[in-house]
Amino acid sequence: MLQILHVVGARPNFMKMAPVHQALTTTPSVQSRILHTGQHYDRLMSDVFFEDLRLPLPDVSLGVGSGSHAEQTAGIMIGFEKQVLSARPDVVVVYGDVNSTLAAALVSAKLGIPCAHVEAGLRSSDWAMPEEVNRVVTDRLARLLLVTEPSGRRNLEREGAAAGAIVETGNTMIDSLASLLAREGITARRPRPGRGLVLVTLHRPSNVDHAGRFETIISFLGTLAEDHDLVFPVHPRTRNQIESSAVGKRLKGRLELVEPLRYPAFVRRMVEAALIVTDSGGVQEESAYLGVPCLTLRSTTERPITVDAGTNIIESSCAGDLGGTARRLIAGSYPGIGENPVLRAAHWDGRAGERVAEALVRFGRSC
Ligand code: UDP
Repeated sequence: MLQILHVVGARPNFMKMAPVHQALTTTPSVQSRILHTGQHYDRLMSDVFFEDLRLPLPDVSLGVGSGSHAEQTAGIMIGFEKQVLSARPDVVVVYGDVNSTLAAALVSAKLGIPCAHVEAGLRSSDWAMPEEVNRVVTDRLARLLLVTEPSGRRNLEREGAAAGAIVETGNTMIDSLASLLAREGITARRPRPGRGLVLVTLHRPSNVDHAGRFETIISFLGTLAEDHDLVFPVHPRTRNQIESSAVGKRLKGRLELVEPLRYPAFVRRMVEAALIVTDSGGVQEESAYLGVPCLTLRSTTERPITVDAGTNIIESSCAGDLGGTARRLIAGSYPGIGENPVLRAAHWDGRAGERVAEALVRFGRSC
């Protein structure tokens, strides 16, 4: 029996892992187990996704919780090492770019347990992003590199990764989105009539932890709210900033601030939106697949395919004319759900989980 252990800890990990776990549960002679580090622990940032993605409860929960980067990463490493020393999986699979990803890759490498990275090779080249540190180091440690878009392969090859270690699989987060759309019977965008909906998500430290930049963003959102209905599901790390900033307090009435939405509710809002304003990685990808225009408030993206797809504009929150960019994006027209040729060429077709599962089994049996 090939023992495969998935390590997840934060919201975006769950959508990336679900299709892989599902594909492996129907593969003969494979045992697929889930370890949750507890990096995200609020019910609305964690538990509900197991229900919404129809995942079984984790086999192991470390319950590490929040802390500084060092405290969290070290806590996960200590708990994870104990688990793998007793369970001895054949392959450890890590997802995305969070502290859980890095911690599990590091422990696996030191214990000589083969590690696979789903969403390898993405690079923002912005070393100030904690996620970029996690991505680069994880890719150096992982022995199987599963990439979601062509830039992933290019970046890994430039950094000297062995060509045989890289597999282009498509995007498993898009699989989760495609199955939800099928379940809900959504085949086309359904823009909300009237003033139009703008959906906002913000949580990157570069936007949220800089008081000046955060005030600029909140003022921009206030201007958008004059002509549009704004829905802003607030990430736990952003709420304090809104409550403590002067502009935030003034505009609170004009922005519909809600708790983080459950996945089906969030996807329904994306499908209805005239525009998405975000700094999320996954939301850039999901909006591209849905054909919803997206204004990404950052100076770089590690997901250039979303810009090539024509739905995403990257503009730093200190840039001059955010309002003009938002208007241009709203006025544009975009390919329908799943029809974007750039994404199709990268196999964003709802079957990436199967390809990742096949690659994992081949890899596991060859180690
Ligand atoms: N998401 C959600 N509810 C929300 C906001 C986001 O279900 O209120 C989902 C979204 O559809 C995507 C994932 O969370 O699948 C993205 O997570 P996040 O933005 O936290 O992380 P990032 O992608 O930036 O690493």
